[in-house]
Amino acid sequence: MHLSSTIASRSVSLSDSSDRSEHPNALPMRTATGNSPASSLHEQARAMRDDRFGRRVFVRGVVEVSSHCRENCRYCAMRRDNRALTRYRLDADELAELIIHRRPAGITDIDIQAGEDPVAVREVVLPLVRELRRRTNLGITLCLGTLAPREYDQLREAGGDFYVMKIETGNSDHYGFVGAPGNLSERLAAITYLAATGWQVSSGLILGLPGQTPAMVEQTLNLLTLLPLAGCSVSPFVGGPQTPFGAAPAGDIEQTLNCVAWLRLRAPHWIIPAVSAMRLVSEDGYVRAFNAGANLATINLTPSTARANYPIYSRDRVIMDEDRVLTAIAAAGCEVSRIGISEHLRGNKTLANGRVLSPSHVASRAFEAVGVDTCS
Ligand code: SF4
Repeated sequence: MHLSSTIASRSVSLSDSSDRSEHPNALPMRTATGNSPASSLHEQARAMRDDRFGRRVFVRGVVEVSSHCRENCRYCAMRRDNRALTRYRLDADELAELIIHRRPAGITDIDIQAGEDPVAVREVVLPLVRELRRRTNLGITLCLGTLAPREYDQLREAGGDFYVMKIETGNSDHYGFVGAPGNLSERLAAITYLAATGWQVSSGLILGLPGQTPAMVEQTLNLLTLLPLAGCSVSPFVGGPQTPFGAAPAGDIEQTLNCVAWLRLRAPHWIIPAVSAMRLVSEDGYVRAFNAGANLATINLTPSTARANYPIYSRDRVIMDEDRVLTAIAAAGCEVSRIGISEHLRGNKTLANGRVLSPSHVASRAFEAVGVDTCS
């Protein structure tokens, strides 16, 4: 796979690798990928989070602007073959008014999500990002799937700060088996491009996907720590209705939280979210994520009329409204951060002073980790 000359001509900071080198191979991977409660690991991770961030949790709002998707992931009910789903795109002006005038007070960042829908990018997201950048100081996170480099550039110029590009699984064959977008090489190239062009990038994995082995989980965790990321999520698998994996068992909450803790210890500066699927598979899973080192919560601001038609990854997902999120943060003995994610990252001296590697170097390390020949 060839990386574009645009990618290869830019540089990317991999300062976080200095953090990670303090812990090479010292962490109990087998404990992390097992499904037994690992309270000691969680305590160490919580202490690391407290050391780096205090007990402060970033709080962002999410708007899910389109449920159209051109992809066909076998684990997601928004896949294009799901004809039973009513598709929608929200209006940029209405969303701007909602976010600017009616967002909860503690929100410092806004996350704009959609299925992989270039029409929504053009007609909803770009005008919305421009309006938010013009009228607010909110950090702007985007989770829009794999786009063309020109679209990433336009979104960045419009005011986007942070891009979420999950890999879901770090094993190439398994990636193909679960039908994730494109292929793993393309996903890694997209992450590399985003980081090289000024985005802060987060990625993530799903625990408990059908066909996933413990060795694949280890491979995925190791791959993630090689990427130029500012954050990473761990979501327990929840089988979506009207999908090929709809009847498969949910991911294990202990394994999910153990992986959260492992990532916190391996990459202490990362932004690691508690995700609503944790609450779906276990009543106290969301609160326990903070006790395992998570430091980001998300309040759902999607208008209630649209929520039911955004079934990622399940129509029965738990909607984390303001009350639920604030209650969970307090239950974990944490508090809401007054500083936003983007502001925090801009001021992160560790990142600023980091070692700089070329994107092609970053890419080849990551591609080597998944056994992909970067010159083929
Ligand atoms: S996981 Fe994302 S890309 Fe895949 S079908 Fe769902 S919305 Fe589309």
